[in-house]
Amino acid sequence: MRRFLIAGNWKMNTLRQSGVALAGELAAVAVHEEAGVEVLICPPYPYLLPVGERIGGSAVQLGAQDVYFESPGAFTGEIAVEMLKDCGCRYVLIGHSERRAILGETDAVINRKVRAALAGGLTVVLCVGELLAERQSGQTEEVLDRQMEGGFSGISEAEAASIVVAYEPVWAIGTGVTATPEQAESAHEHLRKWLARRYSLAFSEKTRILYGGSVKADNAETLLSQPNVDGALVGGASLKAATFVPIIEAARKLAN
Ligand code: PEP
Repeated sequence: MRRFLIAGNWKMNTLRQSGVALAGELAAVAVHEEAGVEVLICPPYPYLLPVGERIGGSAVQLGAQDVYFESPGAFTGEIAVEMLKDCGCRYVLIGHSERRAILGETDAVINRKVRAALAGGLTVVLCVGELLAERQSGQTEEVLDRQMEGGFSGISEAEAASIVVAYEPVWAIGTGVTATPEQAESAHEHLRKWLARRYSLAFSEKTRILYGGSVKADNAETLLSQPNVDGALVGGASLKAATFVPIIEAARKLAN
């Protein structure tokens, strides 16, 4: 059975005090490792260390929201894999739609980041998802295939074992419009079949595929109960314990 992953992407939010306080509330909720549910938070870079200290000893995992693909050197403003590891990160988000759309990240850049992160021992959450216009013109699966081919390019099955896929339809991110459970399940099933074709059936069955896009307390259980939905990547609702913890609880309920 795949273990649910409930991941919070704080984006460019919180300050040190509010971030550490939120981390403390989550650490109190996810005290011990659980067989069925894993909890991850991805704060902004400057707060990785204090947030990491606050969740130390709890079951909450630490991740970053991005990484650069080069080794340490003359790359002003960038952050290397080694630095994230040094700050206690186990995970890194790569290819979030905001980085694709606002920062112009291509599939080729995303692939270099994925490879660097895997080589450095991080677990990657690779984000894919279609724009509204692409869905409306029936291109969803084609777009997902292109992003998966780009992201997984040159990566062996053994390496890909440290990749979690996050399906995030762009039209559902931060909009309050959530994909229906049927839309999410159909995309997740398509992604799992892609993984089976690219690697193997056994591999596809082990890989976690998260849903992201306006996940909230009141829709989490229905989304997470879809057979191919293995967790959630949560933006807005991850910024308060009062809205994030119920999503963790929904996963716990389904896992037990
Ligand atoms: C995200 O940014 O990954 C996300 C899913 O945001 P939100 O939950 O706010 O839609």
